Amino acid sequence: MQEEKSLNFLEEIIENDLAAGKYPDGIQTRFPPEPNGYLHIGHASSICLNFGLATKYKGKCNLRFDDTNPSTEETEYVENIKQDIAWLGFTWDKEFYASDYFEQIYHFALALIEKGLAYVDDSSAEEIAAMKGNLQTPGKNSPYRDRSISENKELFEAMRAGTFADGEKVLRAKIDMAHPNLLLRDPIMYRIKHAHHHRTGNAWCIYPMYDFAHGQSDSIEHITHSICTLEFIHHRPLYNWFIEQLGIYPSHQYEFARRNLTYTVMSKRKLLQLVTEGHVAAWDDPRMPTISGMRRRGYTAKALRNFADTIGVAKRENIVDIGLLEFCVREDLNKIAQRRMAVLDPIKLIITNYPETEEFLTAENNPEDADTGHRTIPFTKELWIERDDFMEAPPKKFFRLGVGLKVRLKHAYIVECTDYKKDANGNITEVHATYFPESKSGQDTSGINVKGTIHWVSTQHAQTATVHLYDRLFKVEDPSSEEGDFKSYLNEHSKTELHTVYIEPALATAKVGEHFQFLRLGYFCVDTKSTASQLIFNKTVGLKDSWAKEQKNNGLN
Ligand code: ATP
Ligand code: MG
Repeated sequence: MQEEKSLNFLEEIIENDLAAGKYPDGIQTRFPPEPNGYLHIGHASSICLNFGLATKYKGKCNLRFDDTNPSTEETEYVENIKQDIAWLGFTWDKEFYASDYFEQIYHFALALIEKGLAYVDDSSAEEIAAMKGNLQTPGKNSPYRDRSISENKELFEAMRAGTFADGEKVLRAKIDMAHPNLLLRDPIMYRIKHAHHHRTGNAWCIYPMYDFAHGQSDSIEHITHSICTLEFIHHRPLYNWFIEQLGIYPSHQYEFARRNLTYTVMSKRKLLQLVTEGHVAAWDDPRMPTISGMRRRGYTAKALRNFADTIGVAKRENIVDIGLLEFCVREDLNKIAQRRMAVLDPIKLIITNYPETEEFLTAENNPEDADTGHRTIPFTKELWIERDDFMEAPPKKFFRLGVGLKVRLKHAYIVECTDYKKDANGNITEVHATYFPESKSGQDTSGINVKGTIHWVSTQHAQTATVHLYDRLFKVEDPSSEEGDFKSYLNEHSKTELHTVYIEPALATAKVGEHFQFLRLGYFCVDTKSTASQLIFNKTVGLKDSWAKEQKNNGLN
């Protein structure tokens, strides 16, 4: 899709700003994750947006860890976030931590106290909430609101020094307890929290609130366009108020709609629950909507970037069909994945008139990319084929095997099914066929026409592997909006393990992270836990299966 796209609303704003000569040194954006979990596909949108705008307009994008909340942040998350951004293909200009600015933000707070614009409040959290009022009723002034500047200064310094216990006091901005925007009714700027911080250790026992850290950090870094999600739209007046009162660099906040995806959840808090309660194996479980989970599943960085580009930026929240993401994944993998043959649910096919020898057939590695060349595949009289490529009583239009039916074995010959064997339980154990020697692929002079082609692996040369199949993580489109616990909508069949999968010899050397198309089955990726002696493939996404679709259309499924 190379057509010229119209500008999104953020690009329009930036182009106007640049045309007005506002930013002669270029724009500056930032991606500000809180290191309290792994990044998910929603974050990928934000990353593509912030880094993408910087690249497009020859500006810069910082990575800033928003680590102002000491209790939930961990160094493990910091490392994984960096790895995910790099994997997505972006390079940050500078790496910062909001906690690096604690001293400076503390001085910003002192400056507001000096201006009579902030005060220390001894009220409890409940009292503060009770005095807040609501949309209909104005709030009430706290009895501590009119403390003198010097008393506020002394108390705030004592807060920092650790004189008080958690919750005993807070620092509030002195704005207007009757303000129509509740967020401007004397918002809390600092709270006391005697907690260890992943970077500053025990140096601080007071921590700035989001509203008194984010805009200040933006300003310190001279962020020109601070892009956040829509739920912060009502925070913007406060963002501006702090910056104006402090007279610091005027960063501007812009909001876009959060990205949601069907059949999954996106909040880190919920994803953490899935991990800690064992509903998935880890943050990078291939069913997770995390960047690391998707990578392990076999989604490519390019597919995620294309997905973000395709959905673009919106001003209204919406939920994107996971089918669109899968489309982007398929589109990229079709170009880059080498083709191989593997049989997931094996049954033996014996070609009764084929000699007791082997021959090596030539197969293209990827018809979409001639540069990938060819490989050889051993062919013998005994092959594994898929159990469902044979039917005892095949219906019309079943263009595979059944007694009397002909099919082409991919890269090899046309065969005709002659009979089959069953065990005592009625399970089919063996299928027999004869082949047409003059029908070899590429040099077919048989004149026989067949409609179907099936894949196979020579039993004598096959290697065994494990394959993990995945289905939607949840049974409903939007588990977060359903009644009750979102976890009650988990799909208990979201993972299937197949331990007797036969793969062609060329797959024996597959490396972790490599992508393949298993002919007729879908795209697969070598799992991070895979080893040379125990290969594990994750199913990334299916191909479009015309047979299954037809079955559905005919109401047969
Ligand atoms: P979560 O609710 O999943 O924990 P968050 O917003 O608290 O998300 P942060 O680490 O604070 O997570 O987010 C970093 C950046 O990514 C922020 O700018 C945030 O707005 C953006 N972001 C988070 N979730 C999404 C989403 N679903 N779609 C688009 N952007 C998102
Ligand atoms: Mg957040």
